[in-house]
Amino acid sequence: MTKGTDLEAFRVECAQFISAAKDSGEACPSYGAILPPAYYQAAMRWQRYCYDSDWAGIHWPSSYGGMGLSKRHNIIWHEECAKAEIAPYLNLQGLVLAGEAILRCGTLEQKEKFLRPTLMNEILWCQLFSEPGAGSDLAGLQSSAIIDGDYFVLNGQKVWSSNAQFAQFGILMARTNFKASKHKGISFFLLDMELPGIDVRPLKQMTGDHEFCEVFFDDVLMPRNALLGELHGGWSVAMAVLEDERSGAGSADVISLSRRLQSMTNNAKGTDSLTRQSLTSLLSRGRSLQSLLEERGSDPMMAPIAKLLNTEIGYDEAQIESRIRGPLSMLDGDATDRLLYSPGMRIAGGSSEIQKNIIGERILGLPREPQIGTSPEA
Ligand SMILES: Cc1cc2nc3c(=O)[nH]c(=O)nc-3n(C[C@H](O)[C@H](O)[C@H](O)COP(=O)(O)OP(=O)(O)OC[C@H]3O[C@@H](n4cnc5c(N)ncnc54)[C@H](O)[C@@H]3O)c2cc1C
Repeated sequence: MTKGTDLEAFRVECAQFISAAKDSGEACPSYGAILPPAYYQAAMRWQRYCYDSDWAGIHWPSSYGGMGLSKRHNIIWHEECAKAEIAPYLNLQGLVLAGEAILRCGTLEQKEKFLRPTLMNEILWCQLFSEPGAGSDLAGLQSSAIIDGDYFVLNGQKVWSSNAQFAQFGILMARTNFKASKHKGISFFLLDMELPGIDVRPLKQMTGDHEFCEVFFDDVLMPRNALLGELHGGWSVAMAVLEDERSGAGSADVISLSRRLQSMTNNAKGTDSLTRQSLTSLLSRGRSLQSLLEERGSDPMMAPIAKLLNTEIGYDEAQIESRIRGPLSMLDGDATDRLLYSPGMRIAGGSSEIQKNIIGERILGLPREPQIGTSPEA
């Protein structure tokens, strides 16, 4: 392939590669941000096929197995995958969250150890942030990693850890200093999920699937080189990761949204006036999001807005789809899956209420909401 900088030539090559991979059955159908267990084998094969064909890690340095191209090339890859309804990578947690964090903050040793194996599918990652008492209030997390000689001793519990049952490594936030203020005592780690003392228990969700897990740590000895970034400086590493998680695929999202909007329009035929009214309102919200992403999709400020609108539209879309289908929506099928899956998407990666808080405080400049234990001026 060319591997040149010409974006339009690259787009054509992307489309050709994806189309050939789709025809030969190598490409894995798209499945969104979280890898469902049913797609595990196909997604693993597809990631490896991309790596072996020099089509993995579009903007990652070639010294770590990537293609060494620009972020703009990576967007084109995502757009072409969205057009073909093909997964752009194995999983978000590895190829975006862990990978970008290691590229930003990793030591040379960490980059060499993790980046290429991640592109090759030899490492599947999970994200170990949320805890039973710390989701929206992530800084309240209580899992501890206390230094003891050459190790950090890890204890505590995580929950909702997508793909943890398959993962070889996890990106982990744990408290390393209980005396510091809550944001300042946290560190960020690259945790080997094979270490003794880690117990992963899959949770059954209402779709019937087991996409996420509870993860328990009992005196797990993490080597000192598991630390990513500064000791006690994990909050800023994590904030950049959350921004990556919320920003999604931007223009690629527009392509999927357009397809969904078209399918909604088709569904409007023969429905009652109330349903058509709901569909029209949804369509106009969808078109607004589409225009917003087309114009400002690359602006990091857009991340919470896109996350909020996209998942709320997805939820309403599933509700209307089930109303149109009537009792059939209670039977097995794609529409039923969407109905049962869409509420979770309004929560994963930060709930809709939290996105509204972020938009209010950081974009609209509204006063910060009161923090427990601090004065309103703090
Ligand atoms: C499908 C799915 C996959 C996930 N995958 C992962 C994963 O891989 N790794 C991981 O670490 N986590 C994961 N999560 C967890 C997710 O990040 C949390 O569920 C989310 O951050 C919300 O936290 P919580 O569940 O503890 O709810 P809580 O924080 O307890 O919130 C409960 C309710 O209160 C509201 N609320 C809380 N605080 C405020 C506030 N200040 N203002 C207004 N309303 C508020 C929330 O919006 C919510 O409606 C996943 C979740 C889902 C649903």
